[in-house]
Amino acid sequence: MSELEIRNITKDYGVSRALHPVSINVERGEFVTILGPSGCGKSTLLRILMGISEQSGGEIWLGGKRIDTAPPEARDIAMVFQSYALFPHMSVAKNLGFGLRMKKIAKDERARRISHALEICNLSGLTDRMPRQLSGGQQQRVALARAIVMQPSLLLFDEPLSNLDAKLRDTLRHELTQLHRRIGATSIYVTHDQAEAMAMSDRIVVMNAGRVVEVGTPLELYRAPKHAFTAGFLGQTNLLHVDADGTQAQLPWHQSVNLDKTAIGPVQISVRPENIAITADENGTGTVSAVSFMGANALYTVEIGQTQVRVSQSGADHLIDAGRSVSLQFPGVVHLLNDASIREAA
Ligand code: ADP
Repeated sequence: MSELEIRNITKDYGVSRALHPVSINVERGEFVTILGPSGCGKSTLLRILMGISEQSGGEIWLGGKRIDTAPPEARDIAMVFQSYALFPHMSVAKNLGFGLRMKKIAKDERARRISHALEICNLSGLTDRMPRQLSGGQQQRVALARAIVMQPSLLLFDEPLSNLDAKLRDTLRHELTQLHRRIGATSIYVTHDQAEAMAMSDRIVVMNAGRVVEVGTPLELYRAPKHAFTAGFLGQTNLLHVDADGTQAQLPWHQSVNLDKTAIGPVQISVRPENIAITADENGTGTVSAVSFMGANALYTVEIGQTQVRVSQSGADHLIDAGRSVSLQFPGVVHLLNDASIREAA
């Protein structure tokens, strides 16, 4: 049995279904991210896990016990909110001690846990500050420390970095990953930010329109997504419709490639921009319509008949100008996408 088992959870708001049966297993110590666009049901699922919203169907099991029938305070779950949700009239130390007092943890143990959480969240020295005397990043660290002191069976994160500026978000993302390695708490992290999900997670659960689309490690989902939605949501890609003739298909730039599965007829494939090689070629099949120099790489938009293909070239010492003819080359095997199974599950 997994540490956390979300079994066939559904949620209806009147006649509209926000969650179709959603099942997710999380192993002990694992860091799992739920990733999906706004409105896909992430917050609804988190609220049900916390016990502040009731599911319409299904069960939740944590540490071998059914918890969806228990009140929020009896679930052994702590949450880090996007809005920090610190008590404004309490010092940092009192914010951290509040939940421990409620749980009637002895004074010595409280002090020990608070000082440990302050240290690992880089907050030592700020113990007596009030929340208004802290920066956004420090407030979010306090919110994190306040969750950690509870030593919960499950830590939930609701887009905790989205109120911070880009640089601070990067720093805290890194700190959170290191912290997770150190304390090993079973964690669910909710975000719509694919870069955050890729950088932090052991596994990612991709959600769309109230359903789990696909689950995998960041590398699996990026390199061999099974669904077009995953391919398009994790990084940039070219979603192409091509005709398969068994083991091969023709790419729009008239290159034959091997497929990872046999198929006959129209299929959809994903080809990442960074996996396509581009060369200036007067007899090439494509024409560059736009070039953006990004520093580490150059992004090209190439027109081939009616098809537009994005290509990313890194380490080039000169750019190919818009209007030039180019030839494209994709080395390797193409993964077939299979959206049919999502429609079958609907
Ligand atoms: P996310 O967190 O991924 O942005 P939500 O869980 O907030 O998505 O919302 C999922 C769906 O449920 C959306 O279509 C949203 O409009 C709907 N929804 C959320 N809360 C309510 C509510 N209290 N009443 C009716 N519909 C709701």
